[in-house]
This record gives sequence, C-alpha cells and structure tokens, in this order.
Amino acid sequence: MAELTPRMKELVQPYLAGIEPYDPNFTPTRINLSANENTYPVPAGVREAIDAALAATPLNRYPDPMSNELRDELAAWHGVTRENTCVGNGGDELLYNYLLAFGGAGRTLLNCPPCFSEYAFFASLCQTEVRDVWRDPASFELDQAAVLAAAPECSLAIVTSPNNPTGDVAPLDFVAALCDACPGMVMVDEAYVEFADDSFGAATTAQGLIAEHPNLVILHTLSKAFGAAGTRLGYVIAAPEVIDAFAAIRQIYSVNVLSQAAALACVRARDAYAPVVAQVASERERELCALHAMAAEGLPVEAWPSAANFVLVRTPHATHVRERLRDEYSILVRDFSYAPGLADCLRITVGTPQENDEVLAAFAALVKEEM
Ligand SMILES: *Cc1c(COP(=O)(O)O)cnc(C)c1O
Repeated sequence: MAELTPRMKELVQPYLAGIEPYDPNFTPTRINLSANENTYPVPAGVREAIDAALAATPLNRYPDPMSNELRDELAAWHGVTRENTCVGNGGDELLYNYLLAFGGAGRTLLNCPPCFSEYAFFASLCQTEVRDVWRDPASFELDQAAVLAAAPECSLAIVTSPNNPTGDVAPLDFVAALCDACPGMVMVDEAYVEFADDSFGAATTAQGLIAEHPNLVILHTLSKAFGAAGTRLGYVIAAPEVIDAFAAIRQIYSVNVLSQAAALACVRARDAYAPVVAQVASERERELCALHAMAAEGLPVEAWPSAANFVLVRTPHATHVRERLRDEYSILVRDFSYAPGLADCLRITVGTPQENDEVLAAFAALVKEEM
C-alpha cells in the first residue's frame, strides 16, 4: 500500500491525497531485530502479575478515561504528581495529539532529521509545516546552532533523545536553550531513555528542566525498555496546564482496561526490568566493539555510538545485505537506505546475547561476500 487509489485521492480531504502510509516492512522471521522491541524474556514473576491483573479486570465497564491508578504509579516513579502526566495509546497517539493540539495549519514543526519518521507524518496529518534542520551528515550530531537559529520562527519542536535511528543523546543545556528560543511547545521524545544510563534514564532525562521551562513536555513509552509494545501504552510528563491540553483533546477511551491493567503491573515491577535494561546496554557495547573490529579488519562497516537499544551501521549494498539476512538467515533488521541522509544504513535492535551473536556473524559473512 504505497499510495491511495485515484478514487480515494479524490474523496479524501485534498491535503491528504499525497500521504504515504507507514510501511514497517515486516516479514515473519526467526530473529526479529527490526522494531527496537525488547526480545528478552519477561522478568521472573512479572508475567504472572500481569496475568493476575488482567484476569481481575472486568470488561463490561468503560475504562477510567484518565487512567488515574496508572498515572499515580507513573508519577510516583518519576517523582511528580498525577497532574503532571497523561497516558496515550502508545507514544504514537501522544505524538499525534501533540501535533493536533499545538500544530495545525499555518504552524511549523521544528524537526531534526534523520529522526523518527512519524513526526513528519503526524505533522502532515495535522496540516503542519515541517522545518527540517538536518543533523551533521557524517556524525549525525544535532546542529545545535542551526536549531536554535530556526526555533524562534517555529511553533513547536521535537527533539529525540536518545535519537532513533542515530542513537545520540541531546545535551540538556541545548534542550534548555531550545525551550527558551522556541515560542511554543518543545517535546523531548525519550522513548529509549531507560537504556541511556545506569539509573534507568534518571541521569539523562530532560524532565528536571520542566520547572524552569513550562513549555517542555517529555514523551515516554512502555514499548521499548518494558518490552510491552503490544499493550500500546505511552505517557507524557509536563506542567499541569500542558497536561490539561493533552487531556482535553484525547479520545477518552483510547487506553483500554486491559492495557491499563497490564501497564500498571509492568510499572509496579519496574525494578525487575533494571537488570534486563542493563544487559541490553552491555550487549549494545559488545555489538559496537564487534562492528568496530570488523572495520579494523578492513571490512566496509561504519557504526555510531548509541545510548539506545539499537545500533546504526553503514555498509555498501545495505539493502541487499538486509534482504540476504532475512532470506538466508531468517534475521530481520531495519533498512534505512531509502531515508534521506541514511544511505546504506541498517538499524539493528540489540537482542539477547545469542541473537546478537547470530546477527553479528551473519552480517560479517554477508559484508565480506558483498565486497
Ligand atoms: C518507539 C518509539 C516511540 C513510541 O512508540 P509506541 O510504541 O507508539 O509507544 C516514540 N518515539 C520513538 C522515537 C520511538 O522509536
């Protein structure tokens, strides 16, 4: 489904006619390292706690629209109050609602590609212009000066930290300066922040800036570190008036009772996830060492540092390497070759040690053969 049929192009709102639906390009494979999910087993006892919570959840009643019990648990974890947080059907719904609330016709989103493609997609759904300030083409670092120079002319901004797919963290002094420079809201998308330090993201998050910068909103999700992508649970942390805006426009029952119950059990068990997250981070470093060793041996492989649960690698014929990984090894990774600025780049999610051994061995073999 690359584009709409001619008939649909005529019938949808004119500004939607050119929209290209998101294609995750998913194929069932033995090892799936394509979507930055957590491939580790659920920590001992947590699945049982989730199952018990689901079994005890009545299905005949509508959900609590604001998920107050879950918000209280999230607030306790993050050291804020219920009034500082709002949940959504995945981080994606909150990203859409952010554009819906604060973007719109005549407004401009400040975007720093290469980054999460959903930002520009949701901006287009909400008729929001996008002002791209590109990262350095070689290092993928943010062009901080250019972002700050563009910010006064933009209505809202999104910075991803750690960034997907480049893996780097946005410095806090830069985020603070951006909040000062942008007349509207600034979102820091911290979908991967738990992997960025050994305190489950507490040392990396920009949350501490909210008190001084009331236009700042932090996005989180249970899809990555918590291995709960299927529950579709994301949340934002911001000043109460910002949360009121998110609450006012959201679809009231978008987070169903089962998702609320499962998410509450996950967040209550957060300490049990810390060792898994620590192991992913150490496996990520091992994987980067292995990729750098391939480069040192003369293989055409480039890899960037990452604070998330994936690594970005560049190698010639990346699209072909990815297809062969899928077809000959049944290993799925994500191809970014088509994306501007990411020619010949693949994103490999960090999996279990065994999955990582397999993908590294297969990747090295294929890169050699493609030389
Ligand atoms: C995965 C991801 C999200 C949110 O994903 P959901 O599954 O919708 O919660 C948000 N931002 C980035 C950059 C992501 O990679």
